[in-house]
Amino acid sequence: MQKISDINQLRLQLQVVRQNGDKIGFIPTMGYLHQGHISLIKLAQKECEVVVVSIFVNPTQFNNPEDLEKYPRDEARDLSMLKEHGVNFVFMPAANQIYSPDHQFSVNVGALATRLEGPFRPGHFEGVATVVTILFNIVQPNLAVFGEKDFQQLRIIEQLTSDLKMNIKIIRGPTLREPDGLAMSSRNVRLNSKARESSLLLSKVLFEAQERVRSGVSNSEVILRSAKSELSKYDSVKLEYLAIVDEKNLNEISEISTPCRALIAAWIDGVRLIDNIRLG
Ligand code: AMP
Repeated sequence: MQKISDINQLRLQLQVVRQNGDKIGFIPTMGYLHQGHISLIKLAQKECEVVVVSIFVNPTQFNNPEDLEKYPRDEARDLSMLKEHGVNFVFMPAANQIYSPDHQFSVNVGALATRLEGPFRPGHFEGVATVVTILFNIVQPNLAVFGEKDFQQLRIIEQLTSDLKMNIKIIRGPTLREPDGLAMSSRNVRLNSKARESSLLLSKVLFEAQERVRSGVSNSEVILRSAKSELSKYDSVKLEYLAIVDEKNLNEISEISTPCRALIAAWIDGVRLIDNIRLG
C-alpha cells in the first residue's frame, strides 16, 4: 500500500495503473475508519484491480466549526486497517492542496440538496459536491462507492455525476450497523455511555416503521406520528427531522410506495446522528 499526499504524485501512479488496463475503484472518506468503510472497499475490490481510498476531513462541508474541530482522527489506525484490507493507494492531501489560497469555484447544488439535511446544514452539500468533484478529477476512477448511510449525499453524488456527465459509475453500499442496530459512524465514538444508549432510539423507530409498512400500514403520516411520539418521550433526543421520502427525488410522500425511505436526524447529547432505512 502506498500513502500519497501529493496530487501530482498520485496522478502519475494512477496513470501507470490505467496504462496497464487496470480498473480504479475509489472510496472517499474522512477517516476514523470502521467496518462500514471497509464494506465499501470490498465492493470496489469486486470490480476493480486497484482501489484508492482518500482520507480528507473536508473543511468546506462543516457548517459547524466545533464539529470540524471535534471530528475524530487516528491516522495510524486508519492506515493499518487499509493495509490489512488490501487497499493499493491511500490519498491524504493537506487542506491547502485541495483548496489553494485563491480557490474560487464550487459546485452549485440542485433541488436534492434543499431538503432534509439542507436547511439544518447550510452549505454542507455544496462542500461535499465540490470536494467530491475535485477528488474525482484527481483520481479519475472507473467507479466510486458511497454508503447508503448518508442517503441524501449518495443521491446528490449520483445526480452530480449524471448531470455533469462524469464517466464514473456510482455504487451504493448498504449501511453497516452495530449488533444492537446503531448505524456505524465515525461520530459514534463521541457518544458517552448514556448517549450511546439513547442513540439506539433512532434505528429502533426506523425498524419499527419498516415493520409497520410490512404489516400493511401505508399512510406516511400514521407511521411518522407514532415514531415522533415515541421519540418525544426522551429528553435526550432532540429530533431535527424524520421524514418519508421518494428515493429518487427525496420529496416527502403521503402514501408508501416503492421505492421510498424513512430518514432521521437528531442530536443526542451534543452529537448529531443521521440514519435511514428503506421502506416497502
Ligand atoms: P465518512 O468518512 O463518514 O465521510 O464516510 C465515507 C463513506 O462511508 C461515505 O460514502 C459514507 O456514506 C460511508 N459510510 C459511513 N458510515 C457507513 C456505514 N455505517 N455503512 C456503510 N457505509 C458507511
